[in-house]
Amino acid sequence: MSFSFIAEQLKQQKAQHLHRRSVQVTGKQGRFIEVDGNSFVNFSSNDYLGLASEPALINAWKRGGDLFGIGSGGSYLVTGYNQVHHDVTEQLKSWLNVDAIALFNSGYSANQAIIKLLLRKDDLLVQDKLNHASLMEAGIYSQAKMQRFKHNDMAHLGNILKQHIQTDNKLIISEGVFSMDGDIAPMTELCSLAKQNNAWLMIDDAHGIGVLGENGQGSVAQANQSQQDIDIYMATFGKALGVGGALIAGSTELIDYINNFSKPYVYSTGLPPAMVYCIGEAAKLAEQQQWRRDHLAGLINYFKHLSGQYDIPLMPSNSAIQPILMGSSKQALDISVWLKKQGIWTTAIRPPTVPNNTARLRVTLTTNHHKSDILLLVTKLKQAIDANSH
Ligand SMILES: *Cc1c(COP(=O)(O)O)cnc(C)c1O
Repeated sequence: MSFSFIAEQLKQQKAQHLHRRSVQVTGKQGRFIEVDGNSFVNFSSNDYLGLASEPALINAWKRGGDLFGIGSGGSYLVTGYNQVHHDVTEQLKSWLNVDAIALFNSGYSANQAIIKLLLRKDDLLVQDKLNHASLMEAGIYSQAKMQRFKHNDMAHLGNILKQHIQTDNKLIISEGVFSMDGDIAPMTELCSLAKQNNAWLMIDDAHGIGVLGENGQGSVAQANQSQQDIDIYMATFGKALGVGGALIAGSTELIDYINNFSKPYVYSTGLPPAMVYCIGEAAKLAEQQQWRRDHLAGLINYFKHLSGQYDIPLMPSNSAIQPILMGSSKQALDISVWLKKQGIWTTAIRPPTVPNNTARLRVTLTTNHHKSDILLLVTKLKQAIDANSH
């Protein structure tokens, strides 16, 4: 029978407590989310700066539609590149201090595109073990040799690079802030290892842009490193910026090469102009409204302080991503279900998103939260963990 693995694998997935389905959220993303008529405090969103339902941005999207229309009508190289794509690209270039930018419809697509574009047989791709699925998947399908270095382990990375001195094209990829662990990459060491070994460095800053660095310029600025030390910088607009879409930044020559040879870039309809206008306004808020970062930093400190008092097992993260390690998928799932009954929405993150036996509750804090929300979360977490360990 054709494709009989479909039913078989779904059955297995259920037996292993790994089965997933989308929940339907009613209304807007914010401090609370509504699901099935119930309201929950939302600790599960990547909307770190609380911009996804910001009234000024909802208006910006409408105004963008009035000014430039809602559909781009084509790919960027045909007629899909509007003045608004140009203007927002220029704005993002000066905010991020980068030389050139290509827009993509998603971070997933940008990551797949760049790996497919640059890496050939005989090349070397070296990735942090915890890199995002979009990077890993592209690496696995690539003709290049892929090696993974232990998470943030620069000695291991150095050894791998040393073993490939003869290889002409070497690309190192790391996330700036790790999506499932919340810790950050050793940016300065990555830059110098890349330089010493004649390799390129790519940073995926999906969780850094908007949140880290003075004026929200991301992980590279946070580490006082120049953007010109990063050969390929990928950032998304769907997390802290609250909208959607992504960029790849790099040298003028690299972006010219993408414009000419990257199939996901060339053969995809350009981002909707109204949306791009809204992305530009979101970037302005992320750049200018320091109070959003300050409030978030205060909440992160408060959460870590309280969790310390209550003996909640945190991971070494200072970011808005605060995972609570559970071990088994079943325990993570049980506790997340119990927390929902208490009006708290957290997501159980299970393999294969994270390594086996490291299932966790991924708690994310955002500018939308109040201190009282954090107190509720930590109190209930403590109760759940105590009850579960008996
Ligand atoms: C979310 C994410 C992506 C994908 O970006 P989308 O715009 O959501 O497709 C890529 N890399 C990392 C690290 C991410 O967390």
